[in-house]
Amino acid sequence: MRYADLHTHTFHSDGTRSPKEVIDVAAAAGLDILAISDHDNLAAYFEISDYAATAGITLIPAAELSAEFHGVDVHILAYAFDPADRAIQSRLASFRATRARRGELICERLGEHGAPVSLERVRELAGQGSMGRPHVARALVEAGHAVDLQDAFDRYLKPGCPTYVSKERFSIPEAVSLIRGAGGITSVAHPTLYPDHRSLVPEILDHGVDAIEIIHPDVDEDSRSWYGALARSRKVGITGGSDDHGDAKMLKTLGTILVPETEIGAVLSRL
Ligand code: AMP
Ligand code: ZN
Ligand code: FE
Ligand code: FE
Repeated sequence: MRYADLHTHTFHSDGTRSPKEVIDVAAAAGLDILAISDHDNLAAYFEISDYAATAGITLIPAAELSAEFHGVDVHILAYAFDPADRAIQSRLASFRATRARRGELICERLGEHGAPVSLERVRELAGQGSMGRPHVARALVEAGHAVDLQDAFDRYLKPGCPTYVSKERFSIPEAVSLIRGAGGITSVAHPTLYPDHRSLVPEILDHGVDAIEIIHPDVDEDSRSWYGALARSRKVGITGGSDDHGDAKMLKTLGTILVPETEIGAVLSRL
């Protein structure tokens, strides 16, 4: 039996590991199939696909897309598309550019609200990757304006805070057609993390999403069986992964979730 983790992050988004470290840790944990699903960024795939092959890991092209549905931030995992697809690359590049402008705007607002952080530091934390609120959160903690990352979100970065700035997001139909157009499939990430999710997720499926991520640290046994039944009744696939971010989210760790390859035939059949 081969095992997969289809949800991991690197420093090309808000994870702390390098792509090479993700491959090394995954191989040591006994994983055979891996997807690096950075937010709005494919850089890790190009950087590390040759190395993954030499380490005996099947690396699947992937990304975690930021989408909006009924005003809710929904994450759509995209898999097994042509990574060289021009439409995907240009759309993700424009998302990253607006993320960088939004980071500047958040820093300006923080300065106006008595919690100045250095934009240079936020840029450094984001590196060459997709800039996000988690990078600003780390800078807020370092500057002493918050005790930890959660506190930084609660005080400054959540919707409703005067220093909150929204970002550009896909509509679900756009995400689905962009990924389908390049031969890939989509999956609703961590279904339990959305408000009123047991009515929201079935509606998301109405727009053509191909699978549900039922195996994830934030999906408990009860929800896993509920969403498993939903997937069967709607004839969509299932996916799973650890959502590893390295040190940025210690409770979600590469190697803690090993999905048997037989469970994720829908994704693997696209390879
Ligand atoms: P962004 O893509 O920049 O809007 O940041 C979204 C990321 O921030 C998510 O993937 C989470 O990792 C993190 N995040 C969002 N909301 C919260 C929250 N309330 N508390 C802690 N982390 C959060
Ligand atoms: Zn993340
Ligand atoms: Fe997510
Ligand atoms: Fe994620």
